[in-house]
Amino acid sequence: MATAEVRLHKPEFTNEPFVNFSKPENKAAMETALKKVASEFGREYPMYIGGDEVRSKEKIKSTNPSHPAQVIGVVQSASAKQARQAIESAHAYFDTWKKVPAERRAEILFRAAAIIRQRKFDLAALVCYEVGKTWPEADADIAETIDFLEYYGREMLRLAGPHKVVPYQNERNFMLYIPLGAGAAIPPWNFPAAIATGMTAAALVAGNTVVLKPSEESSVIAAKMVDILYEAGIPKQALQFVTGLGEVAGDALVKDPKTRFIAFTGSKDVGLVISEAAGKRQPGQLWIKRAVLEMGGKDATIVDEEADLDAAAEGVAQAAFGYQGQKCSACSRAIVSEKVYGTFVEKLVERAKKVNVGPAENPANYMGPVISEGAMNGILNYIEVGKREGKLVLGGGRAAGDGYFVQPTIIADVSPNARIAQEEIFGPVLAVIKAKDFDDALGIANNTEFGLTGAVYSKNKAKLEKAEEIFHVGNLYLNRKCTGAMVGAHPFGGFNMSGTDSKTGGKDYLLHFLQAKSIAEKV
Ligand code: NAD
Repeated sequence: MATAEVRLHKPEFTNEPFVNFSKPENKAAMETALKKVASEFGREYPMYIGGDEVRSKEKIKSTNPSHPAQVIGVVQSASAKQARQAIESAHAYFDTWKKVPAERRAEILFRAAAIIRQRKFDLAALVCYEVGKTWPEADADIAETIDFLEYYGREMLRLAGPHKVVPYQNERNFMLYIPLGAGAAIPPWNFPAAIATGMTAAALVAGNTVVLKPSEESSVIAAKMVDILYEAGIPKQALQFVTGLGEVAGDALVKDPKTRFIAFTGSKDVGLVISEAAGKRQPGQLWIKRAVLEMGGKDATIVDEEADLDAAAEGVAQAAFGYQGQKCSACSRAIVSEKVYGTFVEKLVERAKKVNVGPAENPANYMGPVISEGAMNGILNYIEVGKREGKLVLGGGRAAGDGYFVQPTIIADVSPNARIAQEEIFGPVLAVIKAKDFDDALGIANNTEFGLTGAVYSKNKAKLEKAEEIFHVGNLYLNRKCTGAMVGAHPFGGFNMSGTDSKTGGKDYLLHFLQAKSIAEKV
């Protein structure tokens, strides 16, 4: 049969443990890493096209959102032509890479995971500086990166080789999963290590070649991850690395006729542009491009009158303000039963008052900066809209410091159709909405164009079961917060305008980068 038998056996997947920073040795290791990474600020990072280091005339400076004067690194700004060269080269190498046995491709992912594990403090420090993640958030990003590599490696071992089908008389029948071709990986900045590495590694281990075009805001972390993948054994022609503007380099990759698939995670607006462009056949294009699109959210937590209100306030505060509300899964709407509304809002405000805001490298801060000046101004605009649409009960403006700091902000008495209850803000702004009863709460929760994550706090089993049936989200959490999906345990992806529900970190994910070939031989 076509594919080599899989002999590599790995122990069952388990999640990478998070670092306990209350242990003095871990705190010291992170402090050392922060110093070491700071000593490398300002370095220039090349692109890799056709196996060569490539530089462009135009450059992009990646700065530290906690201290915008600090330049973390300088990256290239690829022209559309350079992006096309990268996909051309990836296309040419596909025939070679797809013949590498799945077992060997998986081994490279396991090796990359081991390298990242060894350097986790340095990598977390870089995440902390480049995108403003606090220590635990940066560590979680790196742990998830390791998880994706370990999980997708194992998944490929499971999918490699012939698969049984229903026997048919006088025939030898089986099915194989084969890769698609050369594709573009276009990740966002908010999980700069995990999403960029996860989508790239998934496509590569499945036997595809990839051009990675990371976000302009987080290209230095991506450059480090690409170096690690090369060090682990991915050939440079199998993984091409192009940095630059989405509307230039990203657009060229999406539209090129040689592009077979696009793995995108980012905003709804860009996702829809890519969906449309990918759907248009270009001259010479032989296939229908596969577009795996993971987009935004307007995630809600329902707080029922039969809930543990302290647990609910804790879960909502963490999900709304963790990483400054810049997770696609962040809670941006709390939908609260009118019977406990006043008490809950009081508890929530008391809890959120304890949130410290300041530079991400200082472990005393629970919230760091938002990603950029543009993002900050957009969030502050939404806060002004929110002040007119509801009652400001906490925050409401910038927080002190030279970075892009925004106060944790809670706006109560918001109508379900208000702009701040409908549009993704992607910052630390929570709308609190009053519901008449549980059915009303579910109706409000489902009343947006998104469908990514949701949470329900209630002790009433029947209500939880109703939510399981009615709450239309890709990731539903009962009596826990709506952020913090774990690879393997919580396959991740949303409905409606939240994307194509690709379920990253789940058993279905690699199938997006494979196609099935069914073979029947008359015997
Ligand atoms: P974005 O849409 O601005 O950018 C995402 C990527 O697309 C970047 O690499 C960017 O350079 C590129 N891009 C921009 N314009 C392009 C174009 N015309 N053609 C091709 N590529 C283009 O998103 P962002 O600000 O980086 O990330 C935040 C968004 O991502 C939020 O909406 C968030 O909800 C979403 N997100 C979703 C998930 C999920 O799993 N559903 C996970 C993380 C983030």
